[in-house]
Amino acid sequence: MTVRPRPLLLLDVDGPLNPFAARLSRPRGYTTHHLRPSGWLSRQTPGSRRHRRGLRVRLNPAHGPILTGLPFELAWATTWMHEANSMIAPVVGLPTDMPVIEWPEPFAKDPDGLCWKTRPLLEWADGRPFAWVDDMITDLDTTYVATHHDGPALLLRIHPRRGLRERDFATLTRWAELL
Ligand SMILES: [Mg+2]
Repeated sequence: MTVRPRPLLLLDVDGPLNPFAARLSRPRGYTTHHLRPSGWLSRQTPGSRRHRRGLRVRLNPAHGPILTGLPFELAWATTWMHEANSMIAPVVGLPTDMPVIEWPEPFAKDPDGLCWKTRPLLEWADGRPFAWVDDMITDLDTTYVATHHDGPALLLRIHPRRGLRERDFATLTRWAELL
């Protein structure tokens, strides 16, 4: 039997893990945290209430064990970059040494209307099969990846009101098993 490398699961934080647009102030299963990621901090007025209080983030501690149980190799694809390992991973129960995609230019406007993450993410994946969960994915990204990536890819848009759900984990598992 040949051992094939597992596909990558590229994880966004805001949207999939942190359902920032949730209608309920306390969605079931989630806990609320006030964190101070450096990118966010740099956009706040020093001394302001928001600056002192931190960024409100809702996280679900059940997500880590579920994600690590999926047939994937996990990596971060988020503006939190390395702070996903130090600030998010311990709360959700993920390893704190996951690989991180470092964006050359976060939020850069793409000439073809793609998500700003799409091109650097493809470069990083370098032909390896991957699933990507993110709230910013559009059909343009899906089409682009289908024609510019040499391996299988699953782009799964997660609504920022709902975050990752049971059905998403089922979709990811099914996709990985069919590879
Ligand atoms: Mg997001």
